[in-house]
Amino acid sequence: MDEILHHIDGKETAAAAGDWLDNIEPATGEKISRVAAGNSEDVDAAVSAARHAFPGWAATPAPQRADLLLRLADALESHRDDLARAESIDTGKPLRLARSLDIPRAVRNLRFFATAVLHAHSEAHLTDGQALNYTLRQPRGVAGVISPWNLPLYLLTWKIAPALATGNCVVAKPSEMTPTTASCLARLSAEVGFPPGVLNIVHGRGPEAGAAICAHPDVPTIAFTGGTATGARIAKVAAPLFKKIGLELGGKNPGIVFADADLAAAVETCVRAAFANQGQICLCASRLLVQRAIFDPFMERLVDGTRALRVGDPLSDGTDQGALISAAHRDKVLSFIDAARADGGTIHCGGTRPDDLPARCADGAFVTPTIITGLPADCRVNQEEIFGPVVTVTPFDHEDEAVTLANGTRYGLAATLWTRDVARAHRVAARLDAGTVWVNCWLLRDLRVPFGGMKQSGVGREGGQDALHFHTEPKNVCVHMSPAEPAS
Ligand code: NDP
Repeated sequence: MDEILHHIDGKETAAAAGDWLDNIEPATGEKISRVAAGNSEDVDAAVSAARHAFPGWAATPAPQRADLLLRLADALESHRDDLARAESIDTGKPLRLARSLDIPRAVRNLRFFATAVLHAHSEAHLTDGQALNYTLRQPRGVAGVISPWNLPLYLLTWKIAPALATGNCVVAKPSEMTPTTASCLARLSAEVGFPPGVLNIVHGRGPEAGAAICAHPDVPTIAFTGGTATGARIAKVAAPLFKKIGLELGGKNPGIVFADADLAAAVETCVRAAFANQGQICLCASRLLVQRAIFDPFMERLVDGTRALRVGDPLSDGTDQGALISAAHRDKVLSFIDAARADGGTIHCGGTRPDDLPARCADGAFVTPTIITGLPADCRVNQEEIFGPVVTVTPFDHEDEAVTLANGTRYGLAATLWTRDVARAHRVAARLDAGTVWVNCWLLRDLRVPFGGMKQSGVGREGGQDALHFHTEPKNVCVHMSPAEPAS
């Protein structure tokens, strides 16, 4: 049985208390490894190692830090097949998706921030000939990074890369359900030459290891991605300690399709936006709003496109839809589908556990991709984040109604809109409560743009300059300029 250990001060270590957690493969329900279950003692050790490493790392010239990150990116790339397989086994996602999305994006994250930091600049302000003000941007110390299970290595690297590039040291806790690739990353970081203590990984349960990071007085920065309820708990702990927190939280993202849209392109992308990674991407479009004039043809194509998705063993090449993260999560998703039935919704496809899985996956956490219509906008299924392969479709008549429906939840992470009318695209985009609006596309990402959520989808922005700023403290230096030399 494989053992997944912490990575603290450059060394692989078991949990101080000797505790372990089971790591379960969601596609089979089988235990595949055991994971060190960290607590505050392990977090103390990791923070102490990070603090010790910090002065040296912060003083390392940016090009040298960048060089190490680039070497780490190369190392990930050279292990991409093993990493993709590990990610697929840990999460239940199709191996094809891990190969094409998760691992390439993890590599890109490291390369992006390694080079971004070389182009970083800071401001200077001249004060009427009296003074020169310039801004130093200095690393803040130990960054606590907490990441979820849906895109494990992708989101972990997205968060640690800007912290490390700007000279911070990191104590990271990946989700207890998907620890494997984080451990590989830590091992490779030591192999490519990261000094001990610069990148530390502590495994364990959120309320123990994660909470200990958030409460630690020597961790001034918390970068968190996960659910809105967890984000609220973290904010409550971090606020009285005056920590800087970045929260990337849940979403209930609308996809608005106007009657003048390119129907074929809209449907094809909506199928992907609703069901990619079994609907377990924070950016998935889980509420489709479709103008009434095209509702029927849209539905017909959407149902056909969804029925064509092959649910199966994540490790098989032909699989489009793998397993959900756990049996408990599957049951939660199925309970939402039951709630939709109770609210009078019509299930057009899916809504069940598949019955034609290969024997290996008979006990896996699978749900067939599900399309529901006929639900009121204010019901639970249309208001709460399900985070599974479930999409609702609701007709609308006018632009105003579409905007009201789109904005009618507590979330504001992302929105997608489909139209050929350029003026409408800009007008509606400006009115949507969303940190990201995609027009005639979905998940088209430029790593330089600000990324984050409005309302209860988050606090702060990641990406590009925002991430570099988040991980640095701006310090203004005001230098008095001598008065002009007296004329001789
Ligand atoms: P959770 O909030 O349950 O967990 C996220 C991380 O927080 C995990 O590492 C978890 O550990 C840890 N954690 C749990 N409780 C605490 C605590 N009290 N203190 C500190 N850390 C804690 O989210 P999920 O893992 O279930 O991820 C799914 C959620 O993430 C969805 O809501 C999704 O929308 C959101 N998400 C948001 C994104 C964005 O960019 N806005 C991107 C991707 C996902 P453990 O797993 O061990 O419990």
